[in-house]
Amino acid sequence: MANLLLNPNVYDPPQFDLATRRQLRAVIDWFEDRGKAKLLKDDLDAVWVSDFVDFIKRERIFATFLTPSEYGGGDANKRWDTSRNAALSEIFGFYGLAYWYAEQVTILGLGPIWQSDNIKAKERAAEQLEAGGVMAFGLSEREHGADIYNTDMVLTPVDEHDDEGVVFRASGEKYYIGNGNVAGMVSVFSRRADVAGADGYVWFVADSGHQNYHLIDNVVHGQMYVSNFRLDDYPVHEEDILCTGPDAFSAALNTVNVGKFNLCSGSIGMCEHAFYEAITHANNRILYGNPVTDFPHVRASFVEAYARLIAMKLFSDRAIDYFRSAGRDDRRYLLFNPVTKSKVTSEGETVVTLLRDVLAAKGFEKNTYFCEVAKLIGALPRLEGTVHVNVAQILKFMPNYMFNPADYPEIGTRNDQADDVFFWAQGPARGASKVQFADWNPVYEKSLGIPNVARFYEQATALKELLATAAPDEEQMRDLDFLLVVGHLFSLVVYGQLILEQADLIDLDRDLVEQIFDFQIRDFSAHAVALHGKPSSTPAQQEWALSAVRKPVTDAQRFDRVWEHVKAYDGAYEMRP
Ligand SMILES: Cc1cc2nc3c(=O)[nH]c(=O)nc-3n(C[C@H](O)[C@H](O)[C@H](O)COP(=O)(O)OP(=O)(O)OC[C@H]3O[C@@H](n4cnc5c(N)ncnc54)[C@H](O)[C@@H]3O)c2cc1C
Repeated sequence: MANLLLNPNVYDPPQFDLATRRQLRAVIDWFEDRGKAKLLKDDLDAVWVSDFVDFIKRERIFATFLTPSEYGGGDANKRWDTSRNAALSEIFGFYGLAYWYAEQVTILGLGPIWQSDNIKAKERAAEQLEAGGVMAFGLSEREHGADIYNTDMVLTPVDEHDDEGVVFRASGEKYYIGNGNVAGMVSVFSRRADVAGADGYVWFVADSGHQNYHLIDNVVHGQMYVSNFRLDDYPVHEEDILCTGPDAFSAALNTVNVGKFNLCSGSIGMCEHAFYEAITHANNRILYGNPVTDFPHVRASFVEAYARLIAMKLFSDRAIDYFRSAGRDDRRYLLFNPVTKSKVTSEGETVVTLLRDVLAAKGFEKNTYFCEVAKLIGALPRLEGTVHVNVAQILKFMPNYMFNPADYPEIGTRNDQADDVFFWAQGPARGASKVQFADWNPVYEKSLGIPNVARFYEQATALKELLATAAPDEEQMRDLDFLLVVGHLFSLVVYGQLILEQADLIDLDRDLVEQIFDFQIRDFSAHAVALHGKPSSTPAQQEWALSAVRKPVTDAQRFDRVWEHVKAYDGAYEMRP
């Protein structure tokens, strides 16, 4: 079997052009040259990532990766390319969530800018990126959480445009805003004092260095700067306004669509580095005269963690193809995106828990990256929309996905050097329930020769039956506690589809596909049992739930082959001291 995990010792992704490969390599070299001791000490001392930001400036990393070619000033390497952005984000996750986060909030901050019609603001953003600047995304407020309809950042119109061309004065606070300590352009979501409802929404840019921008604090303890700031009569000029009215609300949601995809690759990177440390420790730790990995439960944990981690990568890699091929007539990314967010990042947490159970005390040591990952991996499923919010979103796509397929041209692997311009022209964020999908059944049917795929397909087909014969009633449709379980069952079918597609595209070893569908079957069974136990489940639903439980097809020799592959990662990578 091939080495499927990111390994800095040999990293040189052949699918990218030379300039991209050089920059990605430079990022790895920067972290490796600084070394593990400094990486971990900065985390423990909660040092803001300023040296990283200096490096990003020097190497023009964000300028190259986060500027659409239209604003690239003729630089042939500048483009917004989800494929290479995912590779970059995986590397950041591999070395630290705080580095990943500085990029993540820059991406989010750029969302309303690249989507707007304000050319001056876009030129300013391109200039600032070129000069090494980072951005921020000012949506959240302390009182309102996920309820972004409510904002207390208020714009008061200035009667006569004053001498400096000020059109509004902005006052209010924002909370949990990454990079709000340094960003030259903070995209701020607000509402007009004089216009009620959705027509009053406005995105504008503020400068964190302005005297009316007051940085209050970092609301977390750590390397990430998650700011609370206040604007007092902040002067907003015409050229600071990005978008207004319902378009501004769509821009918020569309930005999150682009940004939250990045969470899966961050999670993957964190898990990969943790995995190397875990296997290298456990396979060399002798207890009672034998390696810890001789315990059957320890082996099972490693094989399970590895299969889950590879599945995370397969799904996310395939989702990139759909993202990059999206357009007004193909909005399937709107489903695959919240699945990357809720499912892949939750799987990251599961992987780390499995490894942590094996590492036990070692996983707490301050000289391990694992310790940092264990502390932070849970951030990804919970931030930028919780699993609840995303699974609720996923459910909107279920009827069409399950019952009403459409024809689409086949989409292959998208590693080409294209600029993903559609992200900045997504249009109104509406109509999720109208999006159609290619029939998912043939994807499974093609792999029915793999016993665990065949068994999982029985469960997926059973879900269809549940929805057709014992679907949630009117009351259950209002009960998100009940519906979320249905959403988890549905997510597994979608997860399996893209995993199979990617496995096919890269000709993944069949043993691994079997091992992946082994846990898919058990996860489906667990959610079915959860549905059975829900207070409002009907007798028909309970009966369905029990009949949908399956045992994976076991094969001791296949398990041993996957274990041998896992064991080969022992010592394969150790960060430079
Ligand atoms: C480290 C960190 C960095 C962040 N960075 C930024 C940033 O740079 N910019 C920014 O704007 N924000 C940022 N945030 C804010 C973050 O995105 C918030 O989590 C978000 O505003 C939601 O608010 P909340 O977490 O307080 O949850 P709440 O909205 O208070 O939710 C409470 C509970 O209700 C559930 N819930 C709420 N709405 C729904 C729904 N519609 N459907 C189902 N369940 C629902 C949630 O799942 C949750 O369990 C950051 C937060 C942190 C901690």
